[in-house]
Amino acid sequence: MPTASEVHQGQDGVRITIIGGGIAGLATAIALRSPTRTITVLERSEMLKETGALISLQPNASKIVSSWGLAPFLGLCEPLVDTAFRMFNQSGKLVRQVNLDFARFGADRVLYHRQDLHTALKNAATSTDLPGCPVEIRTASRVTSCDPYKGTVTINGGETLDADIVIGADGIHSVVRQAVVGEPREAIPTGISAYRMLLPVESLSGLKIPKDVLDIAKPVTTMVVGHDRRVIMGPGRGGKVFGIVALVPDENMHETSAAGSWVAQGSIPALLKAFAGFPAWMLEIFERAPDVGLWQLRDIDPLPRWVRGRTILIGDAAHAMLPTQGQGASQSFEDAEALQAFLADLPDGPTGQQVNEALLRVYEARHERASLIQMYSREQARPGTDVGSNKVKLDPAQFMKYNCNYSGAKNWLAAKDMGIVVEKLSLSGV
Ligand SMILES: Cc1cc2nc3c(=O)[nH]c(=O)nc-3n(C[C@H](O)[C@H](O)[C@H](O)COP(=O)(O)OP(=O)(O)OC[C@H]3O[C@@H](n4cnc5c(N)ncnc54)[C@H](O)[C@@H]3O)c2cc1C
Repeated sequence: MPTASEVHQGQDGVRITIIGGGIAGLATAIALRSPTRTITVLERSEMLKETGALISLQPNASKIVSSWGLAPFLGLCEPLVDTAFRMFNQSGKLVRQVNLDFARFGADRVLYHRQDLHTALKNAATSTDLPGCPVEIRTASRVTSCDPYKGTVTINGGETLDADIVIGADGIHSVVRQAVVGEPREAIPTGISAYRMLLPVESLSGLKIPKDVLDIAKPVTTMVVGHDRRVIMGPGRGGKVFGIVALVPDENMHETSAAGSWVAQGSIPALLKAFAGFPAWMLEIFERAPDVGLWQLRDIDPLPRWVRGRTILIGDAAHAMLPTQGQGASQSFEDAEALQAFLADLPDGPTGQQVNEALLRVYEARHERASLIQMYSREQARPGTDVGSNKVKLDPAQFMKYNCNYSGAKNWLAAKDMGIVVEKLSLSGV
């Protein structure tokens, strides 16, 4: 099978370098596939493993994914359509149920295993079964610098690659970000850490949880909410695994191993201590976890720019956010769709100005919305109850309309240009 660069040797086309083979980089590679484009993804790792955890794509992202014809790839992931959010207080009383009928948004909230989603995107990007040239993915290729005006990137070992368009999809610790923004913009610790567990469902057999409290087999997202800590859990991989994320303030997590570190191994006794006083059935599930990962959560402030010259930032490199809206990866799909839409008319061998103008349209369409969702994610991370109270203040339905009601970047920009105001929620002082 010839690579994209071999197909295009000696021809005029559009050469695109994508830095980072995570969800944002791969989604964009798929979105931009074309017979006249040479797309190279540079990934620093060997791409052998993704985090063992679940990830949900919200209706705004699911709608985009469906329009790309990825069903043959994603179907292999045994995706589950989420049907409800059920929220319990710390005493284990059901306080809110939101049934997820997303027909009004034109797509579902879908649960995947991260590894499966990543593999499906990688397979789709490099497949010969989709329109356009297969994308070339170069692993063990860590980018060390980027000239955003020339469109050149240098990788470890000193090799320099030249492109018409450079897309920085290199995650929260992006090296491309500084080249684009013009100053360092580091990831900010948010004061919250996340324990992550993934349990085979067989390990949960024999649990004495009434089905009206938790039915492990049902595609439902269950939340248990305390004042400054909470747990979010649900099934994945066709119901074969059960995923849990437990958020806790850094200073209360009874862990020393994560000090100063980004991702660490957590301990189940420390996790149980952090959630003492939560329902016994939930703690019983924790006790059965084979192991537990611990992530110190960081985000970034909205950036003043995503574009410089021939280069644009996308995904976590552009708008890393807390996971409390489940929108980080979903926003990356919106970025990919926006690039697909605004680069569609770019001629072969585009000038720097033509590229810059197209990228600025992407920024114009995407920046306000992604920045607001970053802020909504911080808002949703605020205490779930008042101190000493069991009354849950969080409402997962609150941001749904704004987040999920999305029909692509061109429509979004057209509505904005026509002065159609998209309903936003006010934020409490973030
Ligand atoms: C606990 C938790 C739960 C979450 N749950 C959800 C959810 O349910 N739904 C959702 O939509 N989002 C969720 N997110 C957010 C989501 O995981 C991220 O927003 C998303 O993975 C970002 O993708 P990315 O490709 O931008 O970055 P990354 O996944 O970080 O990928 C960046 C890639 O770039 C590579 N790279 C980095 N530097 C270089 C370099 N110099 N040269 C070459 N390659 C490089 C990396 O190796 C990596 O492969 C969650 C996040 C967390 C922490």
